[in-house]
Amino acid sequence: MNIIEKLRTEAQLAPESGISAVVNYGRGRPGLIPLWAGEGDLPTPAFISDVANRALAGGETFYTWQCGLPELREALARFHTRHFGRSFSPDEFIVTGGGMHAISLALQATAGLGDEVLYLSPAWPNFRGASIVAGIDPVAVPLSLTGNGWTCDVERLEVSVTPKTRAIFINSPSNPTGWTADRETLQAILDLARRHDLWIIADEIYALFHFGGTRAPSFMDIMEPEDKILFVNTFSKNWAMTGWRVGWMRTHPGLQQPFANLVEYSNSGVAQFIQRGAVAALDEGDTFLANQIERAQRARDIVCRILLATGKVRLTVPPGAFYLFFAIDGLTNSRQAAFDIVDHANVGLAPGTAFGEAGEGFLRLCFHRDLDQVEEAANRIATWINSR
Ligand code: PMP
Repeated sequence: MNIIEKLRTEAQLAPESGISAVVNYGRGRPGLIPLWAGEGDLPTPAFISDVANRALAGGETFYTWQCGLPELREALARFHTRHFGRSFSPDEFIVTGGGMHAISLALQATAGLGDEVLYLSPAWPNFRGASIVAGIDPVAVPLSLTGNGWTCDVERLEVSVTPKTRAIFINSPSNPTGWTADRETLQAILDLARRHDLWIIADEIYALFHFGGTRAPSFMDIMEPEDKILFVNTFSKNWAMTGWRVGWMRTHPGLQQPFANLVEYSNSGVAQFIQRGAVAALDEGDTFLANQIERAQRARDIVCRILLATGKVRLTVPPGAFYLFFAIDGLTNSRQAAFDIVDHANVGLAPGTAFGEAGEGFLRLCFHRDLDQVEEAANRIATWINSR
Protein backbone atom coordinates (compact mmCIF):
# COMPACT_ATOMS: atom_id res chain seq x y z
CA MET A 1 0.00 0.00 0.00
CA ASN A 2 1.20 3.51 -0.82
CA ILE A 3 0.01 5.53 2.13
CA ILE A 4 0.63 8.81 0.29
CA GLU A 5 -2.02 7.88 -2.28
CA LYS A 6 -4.54 7.80 0.54
CA LEU A 7 -4.10 11.52 1.08
CA ARG A 8 -6.32 14.15 -0.50
CA THR A 9 -5.13 14.75 -4.08
CA GLU A 10 -4.26 18.41 -3.48
CA ALA A 11 -2.03 17.43 -0.55
CA GLN A 12 -0.27 14.86 -2.72
CA LEU A 13 0.27 17.51 -5.35
CA ALA A 14 1.94 19.95 -2.94
CA PRO A 15 5.23 20.63 -4.72
CA GLU A 16 8.53 19.98 -2.97
CA SER A 17 10.72 23.06 -2.73
CA GLY A 18 13.35 23.24 -5.48
CA ILE A 19 15.69 24.99 -3.06
CA SER A 20 15.59 22.23 -0.44
CA ALA A 21 17.10 19.67 -2.80
CA VAL A 22 20.28 21.75 -3.07
CA VAL A 23 20.29 22.64 0.62
CA ASN A 24 19.99 18.97 1.56
CA TYR A 25 22.84 18.14 -0.80
CA GLY A 26 25.23 20.80 0.50
CA ARG A 27 24.24 21.15 4.13
CA GLY A 28 27.06 20.80 6.62
CA ARG A 29 29.97 20.97 4.16
CA PRO A 30 32.95 22.62 5.84
CA GLY A 31 33.54 26.14 4.55
CA LEU A 32 30.38 26.29 2.44
CA ILE A 33 28.98 29.82 2.12
CA PRO A 34 25.18 29.46 2.14
CA LEU A 35 23.48 32.03 -0.08
CA TRP A 36 20.54 29.80 -0.98
CA ALA A 37 17.95 30.78 1.62
CA GLY A 38 16.00 34.02 1.78
CA GLU A 39 17.44 35.38 4.97
CA GLY A 40 20.39 37.28 6.38
CA ASP A 41 23.15 36.00 8.63
CA LEU A 42 22.40 38.03 11.76
CA PRO A 43 20.32 36.79 14.68
CA THR A 44 17.45 38.98 15.86
CA PRO A 45 18.83 42.08 17.62
CA ALA A 46 18.66 42.20 21.41
CA PHE A 47 16.33 45.21 21.56
CA ILE A 48 13.66 42.87 20.13
CA SER A 49 14.62 39.53 21.75
CA ASP A 50 14.96 41.02 25.24
CA VAL A 51 11.38 42.25 25.18
CA ALA A 52 10.10 38.82 24.09
CA ASN A 53 12.28 37.06 26.67
CA ARG A 54 10.90 39.24 29.45
CA ALA A 55 7.31 38.64 28.30
CA LEU A 56 7.90 34.87 28.21
CA ALA A 57 9.53 34.87 31.65
CA GLY A 58 6.70 37.09 32.90
CA GLY A 59 4.10 34.47 32.03
CA GLU A 60 2.64 35.82 28.77
CA THR A 61 1.94 32.27 27.70
CA PHE A 62 -1.84 32.14 27.36
CA TYR A 63 -4.27 32.19 24.43
CA THR A 64 -4.58 35.69 23.11
CA TRP A 65 -6.53 37.88 20.67
CA GLN A 66 -7.09 36.12 17.32
CA CYS A 67 -6.31 39.23 15.31
CA GLY A 68 -3.38 40.31 17.44
CA LEU A 69 -2.62 42.20 20.64
CA PRO A 70 -4.15 45.68 20.62
CA GLU A 71 -0.68 47.08 21.41
CA LEU A 72 0.81 45.40 18.34
CA ARG A 73 -1.99 46.57 16.06
CA GLU A 74 -1.47 50.10 17.39
CA ALA A 75 2.26 49.79 16.68
CA LEU A 76 1.44 48.58 13.14
CA ALA A 77 -0.75 51.65 12.63
CA ARG A 78 2.08 53.92 13.85
CA PHE A 79 4.62 52.17 11.63
CA HIS A 80 2.46 52.46 8.50
CA THR A 81 1.55 56.06 9.27
CA ARG A 82 5.28 56.84 9.54
CA HIS A 83 6.27 55.08 6.31
CA PHE A 84 3.27 55.34 4.00
CA GLY A 85 2.32 58.99 4.30
CA ARG A 86 -1.26 58.75 5.54
CA SER A 87 -2.88 57.81 8.79
CA PHE A 88 -3.73 54.17 9.54
CA SER A 89 -5.88 52.76 12.34
CA PRO A 90 -5.32 49.55 14.36
CA ASP A 91 -8.48 47.94 12.98
CA GLU A 92 -6.81 47.74 9.54
CA PHE A 93 -4.33 45.14 10.84
CA ILE A 94 -4.43 41.41 11.57
CA VAL A 95 -1.41 39.69 13.12
CA THR A 96 -0.49 36.41 11.43
CA GLY A 97 1.95 33.53 11.86
CA GLY A 98 4.44 35.00 9.36
CA GLY A 99 4.05 36.20 5.80
CA MET A 100 3.25 32.68 4.64
CA HIS A 101 0.26 32.43 6.96
CA ALA A 102 -0.92 35.85 5.71
CA ILE A 103 -0.75 34.54 2.13
CA SER A 104 -2.72 31.41 3.05
CA LEU A 105 -5.41 33.51 4.73
CA ALA A 106 -5.58 35.89 1.76
CA LEU A 107 -6.08 32.90 -0.54
CA GLN A 108 -8.69 31.32 1.75
CA ALA A 109 -10.59 34.60 1.76
CA THR A 110 -10.63 35.14 -1.98
CA ALA A 111 -10.41 31.88 -3.95
CA GLY A 112 -11.41 28.24 -3.66
CA LEU A 113 -11.61 24.93 -5.45
CA GLY A 114 -11.48 25.37 -9.23
CA ASP A 115 -10.83 29.12 -9.12
CA GLU A 116 -7.80 30.72 -10.75
CA VAL A 117 -5.30 33.19 -9.35
CA LEU A 118 -2.68 35.03 -11.39
CA TYR A 119 0.90 35.64 -10.35
CA LEU A 120 4.00 37.03 -12.02
CA SER A 121 6.81 34.60 -12.74
CA PRO A 122 9.65 33.93 -11.89
CA ALA A 123 8.20 33.93 -8.38
CA TRP A 124 8.93 32.78 -4.87
CA PRO A 125 7.29 29.33 -5.04
CA ASN A 126 5.07 29.41 -1.99
CA PHE A 127 2.13 31.33 -3.45
CA ARG A 128 1.84 28.73 -6.17
CA GLY A 129 2.27 25.89 -3.67
CA ALA A 130 -0.35 27.25 -1.26
CA SER A 131 -2.79 27.68 -4.15
CA ILE A 132 -2.32 24.09 -5.27
CA VAL A 133 -2.91 22.80 -1.75
CA ALA A 134 -6.17 24.75 -1.66
CA GLY A 135 -7.32 23.32 -5.00
CA ILE A 136 -6.92 26.71 -6.67
CA ASP A 137 -5.33 26.88 -10.11
CA PRO A 138 -2.30 29.23 -10.02
CA VAL A 139 -1.67 30.80 -13.44
CA ALA A 140 1.84 32.11 -14.07
CA VAL A 141 2.16 35.27 -16.16
CA PRO A 142 5.81 35.72 -17.12
CA LEU A 143 7.60 38.98 -16.49
CA SER A 144 9.44 40.15 -19.60
CA LEU A 145 13.22 40.44 -19.57
CA THR A 146 14.50 43.21 -21.81
CA GLY A 147 17.72 45.19 -21.93
CA ASN A 148 16.21 47.39 -19.22
CA GLY A 149 15.62 44.47 -16.87
CA TRP A 150 12.41 42.77 -15.77
CA THR A 151 9.11 44.41 -16.64
CA CYS A 152 5.47 43.51 -16.18
CA ASP A 153 3.37 43.57 -19.33
CA VAL A 154 -0.04 44.46 -17.93
CA GLU A 155 -1.79 43.56 -21.19
CA ARG A 156 -0.35 40.07 -20.90
CA LEU A 157 -1.75 39.95 -17.36
CA GLU A 158 -5.14 41.06 -18.62
CA VAL A 159 -5.39 38.42 -21.37
CA SER A 160 -4.79 35.79 -18.69
CA VAL A 161 -7.96 36.82 -16.81
CA THR A 162 -10.81 34.32 -17.27
CA PRO A 163 -14.27 34.09 -15.69
CA LYS A 164 -12.64 31.84 -13.06
CA THR A 165 -9.98 34.38 -12.01
CA ARG A 166 -10.44 35.66 -8.47
CA ALA A 167 -7.19 37.36 -7.49
CA ILE A 168 -3.84 38.66 -8.70
CA PHE A 169 -0.78 38.16 -6.52
CA ILE A 170 1.76 40.95 -6.93
CA ASN A 171 5.12 40.70 -5.17
CA SER A 172 7.10 43.93 -5.52
CA PRO A 173 10.04 44.25 -4.91
CA SER A 174 10.20 40.69 -6.10
CA ASN A 175 11.85 37.60 -4.73
CA PRO A 176 13.74 36.35 -6.76
CA THR A 177 14.14 38.91 -9.58
CA GLY A 178 14.21 42.19 -7.67
CA TRP A 179 11.63 43.53 -10.16
CA THR A 180 10.06 46.57 -8.53
CA ALA A 181 6.87 47.98 -9.98
CA ASP A 182 6.80 51.69 -10.66
CA ARG A 183 3.75 53.71 -9.74
CA GLU A 184 2.36 53.62 -13.29
CA THR A 185 2.52 49.83 -13.42
CA LEU A 186 0.82 49.53 -10.04
CA GLN A 187 -1.88 51.91 -11.29
CA ALA A 188 -2.37 49.84 -14.46
CA ILE A 189 -2.67 46.64 -12.40
CA LEU A 190 -5.12 48.28 -10.02
CA ASP A 191 -7.22 49.55 -12.96
CA LEU A 192 -7.22 46.02 -14.40
CA ALA A 193 -8.33 44.55 -11.06
CA ARG A 194 -11.11 47.13 -10.78
CA ARG A 195 -12.31 46.44 -14.35
CA HIS A 196 -12.55 42.70 -13.71
CA ASP A 197 -13.61 42.94 -10.04
CA LEU A 198 -10.57 40.96 -8.87
CA TRP A 199 -8.77 40.99 -5.54
CA ILE A 200 -5.15 42.06 -5.40
CA ILE A 201 -2.97 40.19 -2.92
CA ALA A 202 -0.11 42.63 -2.47
CA ASP A 203 3.10 41.08 -1.18
CA GLU A 204 5.15 44.17 -0.43
CA ILE A 205 7.25 42.58 2.30
CA TYR A 206 10.39 44.14 0.78
CA ALA A 207 8.84 47.60 0.23
CA LEU A 208 11.13 49.17 2.81
CA PHE A 209 14.07 46.96 1.84
CA HIS A 210 14.73 49.19 -1.12
CA PHE A 211 17.99 50.81 -2.12
CA GLY A 212 18.61 54.47 -2.76
CA GLY A 213 17.05 55.96 0.34
CA THR A 214 13.34 55.59 -0.43
CA ARG A 215 10.86 52.80 0.01
CA ALA A 216 9.45 51.13 -3.12
CA PRO A 217 6.22 52.38 -4.71
CA SER A 218 3.22 50.72 -3.05
CA PHE A 219 -0.43 50.08 -3.77
CA MET A 220 -0.92 52.08 -0.56
CA ASP A 221 0.12 55.17 -2.58
CA ILE A 222 -2.67 54.90 -5.14
CA MET A 223 -5.53 52.86 -3.66
CA GLU A 224 -8.96 54.12 -2.64
CA PRO A 225 -10.44 52.91 0.68
CA GLU A 226 -12.91 50.54 -0.99
CA ASP A 227 -10.37 48.85 -3.29
CA LYS A 228 -10.17 45.05 -2.96
CA ILE A 229 -6.53 44.81 -1.84
CA LEU A 230 -5.14 42.53 0.85
CA PHE A 231 -1.58 43.35 1.91
CA VAL A 232 0.50 40.49 3.28
CA ASN A 233 3.58 41.30 5.31
CA THR A 234 6.11 39.89 7.76
CA PHE A 235 8.59 40.72 10.49
CA SER A 236 10.93 38.10 9.03
CA LYS A 237 13.14 40.12 6.73
CA ASN A 238 13.33 43.73 7.97
CA TRP A 239 14.27 42.80 11.52
CA ALA A 240 16.06 39.45 11.13
CA MET A 241 13.12 37.47 12.55
CA THR A 242 12.59 34.66 10.04
CA GLY A 243 12.34 32.00 12.76
CA TRP A 244 9.78 33.87 14.85
CA ARG A 245 6.92 33.18 12.47
CA VAL A 246 5.11 36.46 12.89
CA GLY A 247 3.68 38.72 10.21
CA TRP A 248 0.60 40.77 9.47
CA MET A 249 -2.07 41.72 6.98
CA ARG A 250 -3.41 45.14 6.19
CA THR A 251 -7.06 44.95 5.14
CA HIS A 252 -10.14 47.12 4.89
CA PRO A 253 -11.19 47.70 8.54
CA GLY A 254 -14.53 46.05 7.77
CA LEU A 255 -12.75 42.71 7.30
CA GLN A 256 -11.43 42.37 10.83
CA GLN A 257 -13.99 39.83 12.05
CA PRO A 258 -13.82 37.44 9.07
CA PHE A 259 -10.03 37.44 9.27
CA ALA A 260 -10.10 36.93 13.04
CA ASN A 261 -12.24 33.88 12.28
CA LEU A 262 -9.80 32.59 9.65
CA VAL A 263 -6.96 33.00 12.16
CA GLU A 264 -8.97 31.08 14.76
CA TYR A 265 -9.36 28.11 12.40
CA SER A 266 -5.72 28.05 11.28
CA ASN A 267 -3.20 28.90 14.02
CA SER A 268 -5.61 30.46 16.57
CA GLY A 269 -3.32 33.44 17.00
CA VAL A 270 0.35 34.23 17.48
CA ALA A 271 2.09 33.67 20.83
CA GLN A 272 1.76 36.75 23.01
CA PHE A 273 5.45 36.99 23.97
CA ILE A 274 6.37 36.88 20.27
CA GLN A 275 3.99 39.76 19.63
CA ARG A 276 5.69 41.82 22.38
CA GLY A 277 8.98 41.47 20.51
CA ALA A 278 7.22 42.50 17.31
CA VAL A 279 6.08 45.77 18.94
CA ALA A 280 9.72 46.59 19.72
CA ALA A 281 10.72 45.82 16.11
CA LEU A 282 8.18 48.27 14.74
CA ASP A 283 8.72 51.05 17.25
CA GLU A 284 12.49 50.87 17.64
CA GLY A 285 13.68 49.05 14.52
CA ASP A 286 14.06 51.79 11.88
CA THR A 287 17.79 52.27 12.53
CA PHE A 288 18.51 48.54 12.49
CA LEU A 289 16.65 48.26 9.19
CA ALA A 290 18.49 51.23 7.68
CA ASN A 291 21.83 49.63 8.62
CA GLN A 292 20.77 46.32 7.08
CA ILE A 293 19.78 48.01 3.84
CA GLU A 294 23.06 49.91 3.68
CA ARG A 295 25.08 46.74 4.18
CA ALA A 296 22.98 44.81 1.66
CA GLN A 297 23.45 47.53 -0.94
CA ARG A 298 27.21 47.30 -0.55
CA ALA A 299 27.03 43.51 -0.77
CA ARG A 300 24.87 43.77 -3.89
CA ASP A 301 27.39 46.05 -5.57
CA ILE A 302 30.32 43.75 -4.69
CA VAL A 303 28.61 40.67 -6.14
CA CYS A 304 27.49 42.44 -9.30
CA ARG A 305 30.99 43.86 -9.92
CA ILE A 306 32.71 40.49 -9.50
CA LEU A 307 30.22 38.47 -11.54
CA LEU A 308 30.00 41.02 -14.36
CA ALA A 309 33.81 41.02 -14.62
CA THR A 310 33.61 37.41 -15.91
CA GLY A 311 31.91 38.76 -19.05
CA LYS A 312 29.72 35.63 -19.00
CA VAL A 313 26.89 36.72 -16.74
CA ARG A 314 23.65 38.55 -17.44
CA LEU A 315 21.98 40.31 -14.57
CA THR A 316 19.76 43.21 -13.61
CA VAL A 317 21.00 45.12 -10.57
CA PRO A 318 18.06 44.69 -8.17
CA PRO A 319 16.62 47.97 -6.82
CA GLY A 320 15.09 46.19 -3.83
CA ALA A 321 14.96 42.99 -1.75
CA PHE A 322 18.24 41.11 -1.25
CA TYR A 323 18.54 38.67 -4.12
CA LEU A 324 20.57 38.62 -7.29
CA PHE A 325 18.93 36.60 -10.06
CA PHE A 326 21.58 36.05 -12.69
CA ALA A 327 22.04 33.99 -15.84
CA ILE A 328 25.29 32.40 -16.99
CA ASP A 329 26.02 32.22 -20.73
CA GLY A 330 25.42 28.73 -22.07
CA LEU A 331 23.81 27.48 -18.86
CA THR A 332 20.80 25.30 -19.64
CA ASN A 333 20.34 23.33 -16.43
CA SER A 334 20.10 25.53 -13.32
CA ARG A 335 19.51 22.65 -10.98
CA GLN A 336 22.65 20.84 -12.06
CA ALA A 337 24.58 24.11 -11.92
CA ALA A 338 23.51 24.67 -8.30
CA PHE A 339 24.83 21.19 -7.40
CA ASP A 340 28.06 21.82 -9.33
CA ILE A 341 28.57 25.15 -7.58
CA VAL A 342 28.25 23.37 -4.23
CA ASP A 343 30.83 20.80 -5.33
CA HIS A 344 33.33 23.08 -7.05
CA ALA A 345 32.87 26.53 -5.49
CA ASN A 346 31.55 25.50 -2.06
CA VAL A 347 28.81 28.10 -2.32
CA GLY A 348 25.09 27.42 -1.90
CA LEU A 349 22.79 29.03 -4.45
CA ALA A 350 19.14 28.42 -5.33
CA PRO A 351 18.43 27.10 -8.85
CA GLY A 352 16.33 29.47 -10.96
CA THR A 353 13.89 26.66 -11.74
CA ALA A 354 12.81 26.66 -8.09
CA PHE A 355 10.99 29.88 -9.07
CA GLY A 356 9.22 28.45 -12.11
CA GLU A 357 10.03 27.48 -15.68
CA ALA A 358 10.87 31.09 -16.50
CA GLY A 359 13.83 30.71 -14.11
CA GLU A 360 15.69 28.10 -16.18
CA GLY A 361 19.23 29.28 -16.91
CA PHE A 362 19.26 31.48 -13.79
CA LEU A 363 20.55 31.16 -10.25
CA ARG A 364 19.42 33.11 -7.19
CA LEU A 365 22.00 34.43 -4.78
CA CYS A 366 20.99 35.99 -1.44
CA PHE A 367 23.52 38.74 -0.68
CA HIS A 368 22.14 39.72 2.75
CA ARG A 369 25.32 38.68 4.54
CA ASP A 370 28.70 39.66 5.93
CA LEU A 371 30.51 41.58 3.18
CA ASP A 372 33.72 39.53 3.32
CA GLN A 373 31.79 36.30 2.93
CA VAL A 374 29.76 37.69 0.06
CA GLU A 375 32.94 38.81 -1.70
CA GLU A 376 34.59 35.43 -1.15
CA ALA A 377 31.50 33.63 -2.46
CA ALA A 378 31.32 35.84 -5.55
CA ASN A 379 35.01 35.21 -6.29
CA ARG A 380 34.55 31.45 -5.96
CA ILE A 381 31.53 31.52 -8.29
CA ALA A 382 33.45 33.68 -10.78
CA THR A 383 36.32 31.18 -10.75
CA TRP A 384 33.84 28.37 -11.43
CA ILE A 385 32.22 30.33 -14.27
CA ASN A 386 35.60 31.08 -15.85
CA SER A 387 36.62 27.42 -15.67
CA ARG A 388 33.53 26.16 -17.52
N1 PMP B 1 6.73 36.74 0.45
C1 PMP B 1 7.95 36.74 -0.11
C2 PMP B 1 8.13 37.41 -1.42
C3 PMP B 1 9.02 36.12 0.54
O1 PMP B 1 10.23 36.14 -0.03
C4 PMP B 1 8.79 35.48 1.78
C5 PMP B 1 9.90 34.75 2.50
N2 PMP B 1 10.88 34.18 1.74
C6 PMP B 1 7.51 35.52 2.33
C7 PMP B 1 6.51 36.16 1.63
C8 PMP B 1 7.15 34.84 3.62
O2 PMP B 1 7.78 35.28 4.72
P1 PMP B 1 7.66 34.54 6.11
O3 PMP B 1 9.00 34.04 6.46
O4 PMP B 1 7.22 35.58 7.07
O5 PMP B 1 6.64 33.47 6.00
